[in-house]
Amino acid sequence: MEIFLEKKPRYGIEVENLQQLNQILNSVTLSQTRDYWTWNGDLFSVSKARKLIDKHDLSPHVNVTKWCNQAPIKINIFIWRLKLCRLATKKNLIARGIEIENSGCCLCEETFEDENHIFLHCDTSHQIWSKVAQWTNISLPSWSSLANLWAWIDSVPIRKNRRLIVTIIIYATLWNIWRLRNSIIFEDTKFRKSHVIDSIVVSSFNWIYARFSKSSCNWNQWLQYPLHSL
Ligand SMILES: [Zn+2]
Repeated sequence: MEIFLEKKPRYGIEVENLQQLNQILNSVTLSQTRDYWTWNGDLFSVSKARKLIDKHDLSPHVNVTKWCNQAPIKINIFIWRLKLCRLATKKNLIARGIEIENSGCCLCEETFEDENHIFLHCDTSHQIWSKVAQWTNISLPSWSSLANLWAWIDSVPIRKNRRLIVTIIIYATLWNIWRLRNSIIFEDTKFRKSHVIDSIVVSSFNWIYARFSKSSCNWNQWLQYPLHSL
């Protein structure tokens, strides 16, 4: 390869640098194909880079950073905190040395409030999950822990779009249970138990509707057969 320079190198270091540059360029072979980024011998993509980082740096909590693009950011952050046990449940507040008057579940007032109880084992949550199962016509298992719930979402044998809808509905259910719990603690009378199911149906529809083509998502169908909506 020949190099054309406007100004010739004059001194030792310049000549030396030019020789080194020549050596480097001599090993380069140009081709007619279009330029592209490579990554480990394969085409580069952000998702591949992300997977590699997750695999190396986040392997113990790889599920934690799994983002659901169809859910709003605040919901993803809520789920992320829930997976990391960082929600301000009474159990977590006590673990951080914060004194609270009553450590019981505010939904049933019967037992200690931790994540598994408030979202899965509490009577009120049971009732909410069974109404969600009735609406969606999905047979939801009785998860023994939230870890089981995350694993179930990933493994339930349904096709991709339906898994997405199920994920969104489960996120909406968890979010609204948490809203109900907070409305009781902070005495917000605007959100009551009777509002929870309606709010799950409406919020999950809005999240899906905002991110898919409007024609593929229909409100009447969502009310009756949510799993067939995409
Ligand atoms: Zn309870």
